[in-house]
Amino acid sequence: MIKLLRYGNTNTYFVGGENKGILIDTDWAGTLPAFYKALKLCNIRIEDIGYVIATHYHPDHMGLISELNELGIKLLLVDVQLDYVHFPDEIFNRDTKLRYTPISENDAAVISCAESRTFLASLGISGEMIHTPAHSEDSVSILLDEGAAIVGDLPPFDTVEAYNENECLRKCWNDILEHHPKVVYYSHANERYF
Ligand SMILES: [Zn+2]
Repeated sequence: MIKLLRYGNTNTYFVGGENKGILIDTDWAGTLPAFYKALKLCNIRIEDIGYVIATHYHPDHMGLISELNELGIKLLLVDVQLDYVHFPDEIFNRDTKLRYTPISENDAAVISCAESRTFLASLGISGEMIHTPAHSEDSVSILLDEGAAIVGDLPPFDTVEAYNENECLRKCWNDILEHHPKVVYYSHANERYF
């Protein structure tokens, strides 16, 4: 079960598990009040969210993670993301009104993509994560067995031909399509049905 939360410019997805679900991406720092409103609209309680994961560490995908950690929601980090967690700190710190607290990744659950299926299964979610670095080195996609692919800022499938020379993008989409998704969810565009 996937729910879309919109409270800014980035789509946030909630994937329900048997007990607790995971939240995929958050908007910019400072959007917590809007996030709460979106949660309420979607009938999701804070305590329904076990983990938060960013598809990648650009500021418009992870701005609420440290605040969500304080609320008891754990960070799920993929090992390929470890070096990128603090990339946005400097951008947020420039705006002192945000009072941004950097993420403390020491409290995170760190897994590899290879471990992701077992990890998600422990939450009652059938699926896995794969490394899809065409948008940024630290980008991952979440592929659910029900036929959903959540791909963050990966350039849309329709653009593969336009980026003719981009072997990495082609490979990312090949890897995703191997999982036969019925619907692909983007961060900044409407979902696309296959
Ligand atoms: Zn991005």
